[in-house]
Amino acid sequence: MADKLCLITGGAGFIGSHAAEAMLARGWRVRVLDDLSTGSAANLASAAGAELVRGDVRDLMKVRAAARGASCVLHLAAKTSVPGSVSNPIEYHDVDATGTLTALEAARIEGVRRFVMSSTCAVYGDGGPQPAGESAPAAPVSPYAAAKLAAETYCLSFGRSRMLEPVVLRYFNVYGPRQRPDLPYAAAVPAFIKAFMEGRRPVIFGSGLQTRDFVYAGDVALANACAAEAPAPPPGPYNIASGRECTVLNLLEAVAAAFGVPAEFDRAPQRPGDLERSSADARLAERSLGFRASTGLAEGISKTVEWFRRRPGLTGRP
Ligand code: NAD
Repeated sequence: MADKLCLITGGAGFIGSHAAEAMLARGWRVRVLDDLSTGSAANLASAAGAELVRGDVRDLMKVRAAARGASCVLHLAAKTSVPGSVSNPIEYHDVDATGTLTALEAARIEGVRRFVMSSTCAVYGDGGPQPAGESAPAAPVSPYAAAKLAAETYCLSFGRSRMLEPVVLRYFNVYGPRQRPDLPYAAAVPAFIKAFMEGRRPVIFGSGLQTRDFVYAGDVALANACAAEAPAPPPGPYNIASGRECTVLNLLEAVAAAFGVPAEFDRAPQRPGDLERSSADARLAERSLGFRASTGLAEGISKTVEWFRRRPGLTGRP
């Protein structure tokens, strides 16, 4: 594996930077293509040796140049906010669907065989069977999920016409070090941590009884490595999840416990596009890719809180 090159689009982002570390640790050379719109070069501080190319994933010539010589693409570049996509559906389609098609085409032209795409559990929508298995019908609620489903469809079509070997991964709710707490629609874990660090009560949207499967970023990075290295995996899609269903209130309690403070919070109305229930059957990835998430919620939250405590600019005490 020593001389194999992997291109990671969106590799300067939260999950992409964990994927970069995982691939380097397994002996791959890593090149990152990222427009740094939500990611940053600083995220790659622990990925020594990763090459960073600044560019837009919708720019075919730029992605082709970045993919040249690679034997694998991990495609993570995307706009990722559900509420953001409700306000800006065309931009989300452009980056998440057309951007994926552009990355696929670049990989095909440059002769890259393996193409691992980051999709989302949001494609299942609300009201389907729980826990969701991969055969559950897709019923996207948000434009973000619709764009990701379109991207998945392009990946699978490139596989069926033997243009390359796609592997589609549907992540559930990922959390961990380097997830941004400062974006308008920050995910629950960094938003809760930031609130506790600033001595505020975190906000829960809706009842707090909505459920999610929270999976640690290091585990998702490992899922990408397994998908990159599996000898001839079926294209999926594969749920990438912990297999544990957790309410947002339980999550808040876990974060509060890591700070040793009471789990007090304020309420706000449910946000458009948010799902009531989301739980995963994660067994297919184990059977076909040899991947299983191994980080428990308390362990993952504790590692994440520890990272935030060390982070410059967020040094307040709970
Ligand atoms: P992130 O915003 O940290 O990462 C996305 C990266 O893509 C950023 O570094 C950003 O700068 C880059 N990017 C955005 N638009 C780009 C463009 N046009 N050209 C090049 N680079 C661009 O978010 P993340 O949470 O790390 O998400 C990574 C992937 O995982 C995304 O595809 C997302 O849809 C998927 N995903 C994330 C979660 C989650 O819980 N965080 C869940 C399901 C799926």
